[in-house]
Amino acid sequence: MKNIYRISAIAAAALSLCACGNDWLDLEPTTSINTETSIQAMQDCNASLNGIYSTMQNAYAYSGRLIYYGDAAGDDMQAYKVTSRTGDAYLFSYTQSNVKESYWSYPYSLISACNTILAQVDNIPTSDEELRNYYKGQALALRGMFLFDLTKLFGYPYKKDNGASLGVPIVTETLDKDAKPKRNTVAECYTQIIKDIKEGAELMNSKTGNAFHKGWINRPAALSLLSRVYLYHGDDALALETAEEAITVAEKNKFALWTNAEYPTAWAADIDGSAPGETLFEIINLTDDSPGKEALGYLYDDYGYYDILCTSSFYDLLSKDPNDVRHSIAPISTKRTKRVFIKKYAPQGSEVIQDANIRLLRLSETYLNAAEAAFKTGDAEKAASYLNAIVSRANPNNSVSADDITLDRIMTERRLELVGEGHRFFDALRDGGYVERKDVSIKAISSTKHLVMSDEKKKFNWDYDHCVLPIPVAEIDANGNIDQNPGY
Ligand code: CA
Repeated sequence: MKNIYRISAIAAAALSLCACGNDWLDLEPTTSINTETSIQAMQDCNASLNGIYSTMQNAYAYSGRLIYYGDAAGDDMQAYKVTSRTGDAYLFSYTQSNVKESYWSYPYSLISACNTILAQVDNIPTSDEELRNYYKGQALALRGMFLFDLTKLFGYPYKKDNGASLGVPIVTETLDKDAKPKRNTVAECYTQIIKDIKEGAELMNSKTGNAFHKGWINRPAALSLLSRVYLYHGDDALALETAEEAITVAEKNKFALWTNAEYPTAWAADIDGSAPGETLFEIINLTDDSPGKEALGYLYDDYGYYDILCTSSFYDLLSKDPNDVRHSIAPISTKRTKRVFIKKYAPQGSEVIQDANIRLLRLSETYLNAAEAAFKTGDAEKAASYLNAIVSRANPNNSVSADDITLDRIMTERRLELVGEGHRFFDALRDGGYVERKDVSIKAISSTKHLVMSDEKKKFNWDYDHCVLPIPVAEIDANGNIDQNPGY
């Protein structure tokens, strides 16, 4: 069993993993990859991409664990109890033996599936170059996204040491089953992440690639993600330019920020190309294709597992304006009283809560990326303009002037807007800031209190060694070239 954790073995298993539920591939009864026979025609690329999106949909991947980590490890949400599913991430109780190996194995499986497409896509005979480029662009942008998430989970923030510390192995080709890749530095990982997403976005610069395609990544989504990567990497001018391009392309293609009136119910919308709203990229979950109760819809809901809730400090922040529309997605619970749960994972139509779609990239974040990047490059006027799209949407009576705007104000708005979407822990740490778990006494949510934890977990920055996950011991045992993170 140990072999399944090793990157090379994960690569070999990736094809059969992605083929689950799809009849696109005549898999030979072997675990070895044979890319030449698996992807020969354009429809094989299409099916292979669907396999990737289907794998992303797993509750241990993007319908759940890979998202909730950034909420549970931060200070705007907290696990309900020690034994909650999100409890290990909240309390940093992972060891190299008990860390959930899916943090490692899912992104690598997905990267391998991208590599399989990329190894063949240029060789497929077709006259439709735009479609080829759209397929290739998706595989590249997604590979960059998976490497970004691995680097965030297992490597220290780039700005801590300009990326000198260890990230994760960069895998861009089909690996031999005995390959034992080493960890690359965080800096090397960012170079690859940026290269992949940038090239992917360029290949998708077409009518097809710019437009809405249900459940698939497109160019505005890739550009929005790239603008975030640039912020993490300290490329503020590029972050601004890229976020602005993402906004322009998105809005030319019918995407638009939700309005104040739309905001409370937009999360449940089953979007299509005629009115995609601000969802640039989402995981589609359906009743007959459900990620199950480990998915965010059921985990986050007070009528589901009530596994994770808002902290009192977050509710205190939100409550500074009782008329903020975002109270609609953070109401005081009627089921688990004196607590607040996030209602962003709302099911579509007659679905049950675990079938809620997962909005992975929203135009609201793109505006916040633009505001942050504009401020960091010294353009307070532009920063205020982008920030106010979000501030005034939350409450039309509110705005921030260019004279009053600060980075702290922009990051506070980011917390308010993106709560429950897996950002907070990474946003707090990426510029050297702190996660601070403290209770604020508020009568209406008096049952909300942080669980008992050591002082180092109550307030920490990127110097806390457990702010990165341990590499699963099975990978270390199988691959002698993999170094463990310090402190584990
Ligand atoms: Ca759904």
